[in-house]
Amino acid sequence: MDVPSQPNEGETYVLPSAEATLIARSKLLSNLPQRGLGAEQIQHHLREDIVPGLNRASQSPNYYGFVIGGVTPAAAFADNVVTEVDQNVHVHLPNETISTDVEDRALSMVCELIGLSPAEWPHRIFTTGATASNVVGLACGREFVLREAAKTNSSGKHASVAEHGIFEAMKLAEKSGIQILTTVPHSSLRKAASIVGLGRASVVDVGMPDQRHIFDLPLLEKRLSEDTSIASIVAVSCAEVNTGLFATNGRDMQQIRRLCDQYGAWLHVDAAFGLLARVLPENEKYSTLKAGVAGLELADSITGDAHKLINVPYDCGIYLSRHLDIGIEVFHNPNAAYLNTASTESTTSTDRTIPSPLNIGIENSRRFRALPVYATLAAYGREGYREMLERQIALARGIAKYLLDSKDYVLLPQQPKGDSSDPLQHIYIVVLFRAKGEQLNKTLVKRVNAGRRLYVSGTEWAGLPAVRFAISNWQVDVERDLQIVKDVLVEAAS
Ligand SMILES: *Cc1c(COP(=O)(O)O)cnc(C)c1O
Repeated sequence: MDVPSQPNEGETYVLPSAEATLIARSKLLSNLPQRGLGAEQIQHHLREDIVPGLNRASQSPNYYGFVIGGVTPAAAFADNVVTEVDQNVHVHLPNETISTDVEDRALSMVCELIGLSPAEWPHRIFTTGATASNVVGLACGREFVLREAAKTNSSGKHASVAEHGIFEAMKLAEKSGIQILTTVPHSSLRKAASIVGLGRASVVDVGMPDQRHIFDLPLLEKRLSEDTSIASIVAVSCAEVNTGLFATNGRDMQQIRRLCDQYGAWLHVDAAFGLLARVLPENEKYSTLKAGVAGLELADSITGDAHKLINVPYDCGIYLSRHLDIGIEVFHNPNAAYLNTASTESTTSTDRTIPSPLNIGIENSRRFRALPVYATLAAYGREGYREMLERQIALARGIAKYLLDSKDYVLLPQQPKGDSSDPLQHIYIVVLFRAKGEQLNKTLVKRVNAGRRLYVSGTEWAGLPAVRFAISNWQVDVERDLQIVKDVLVEAAS
């Protein structure tokens, strides 16, 4: 075995070797012991047997597979405190703990980071991830669109999925279906549609034929208007996971908002990793990216992920909505007097009573996942996060530039004919490419990952295998990492 199962001092591997995973798996206890082995023995077992079989994706700046982020030192410290104090952040109990105040403050700091006014986003909560946030967004959207429809129809009755169930609410709203209109959705949007009873098939792509991530606005309007028995949710992919491209610019968002108001639709934005682009400074370098996140304040609900670009440990997603009443309607625990806040007196400086998290989100008992977010945002501030993202983008653009100039590789997606804009302007933190040679392209992912100096993931683009770099770790060092990437790509092509 020439590859060490543990990194040498001063270096980290990205993935364990195949041998290391085999060995680690063979050392797993095969059964529940009758008599426990004891905490000390187990510490040894975890360190020596299990950890060597785990990957270092989140610790390595050279893991470019999924958008997973890393863990900043401040967030890591806070996460250990979370375990130590083991708070259940469920009911707002201001005389017993300030944990709900911390969560509320962390979420308002998130709003400030991305340039949203916390007061306008009163339904805010940490979730387990962007998938959960998409579930919350669709559940709220479903509630809203049927309620609004019932207000304006002949029955004039209150229609609530939360109260009556989807069948009854549909009848009261005089609707026969709910469609989710979107472009290049993340797979979790269809999963969320399945969970909330709308169905995967209700997710309808309304992208342009030649640039599928961009809304075909006339088609969107047609789908919103042509069948008045169908209610609609519009879902914007704010940075698509294969290419990092944004579905809208500020002008599109204004038009989409206008259409949603006209047809009673809910506007949800999935900005799992796109959200952070809002911290970028206003300048020529980032104008395309800034346009991609312009107009987010027009949405009804927004999905974000803190375990991606905010670089806190798993798991932590973000949900923001302007409609607290809808959130409470969907998520409150009915008839549970013991879950009421002991005192309604608020300890916030903003005169706002903090809603109990268990009445505005999926879980009742919840981890104190707010603390790492609070800690890392406080530790590095807006400037720290801006600087971190600028490094990530600089590395992505450095890789893209190398690919553009290379005789062996093609940067994807290729620019549409007639588009003479600088291709690097579109690069955020994802770089998609393939090899020019068909043979090389078939084995490219394997060849790039073979040296184990970095890790990329394979995907498919326009029917052909393609490779994708996703850059999301706080530790990125542009010069060092670009050199590693270039060395590996040169070697893979030779
Ligand atoms: C990662 C991602 C998700 C899913 O997020 P999880 O945190 O894995 O649940 C959803 N949407 C987009 C755009 C993503 O990038």
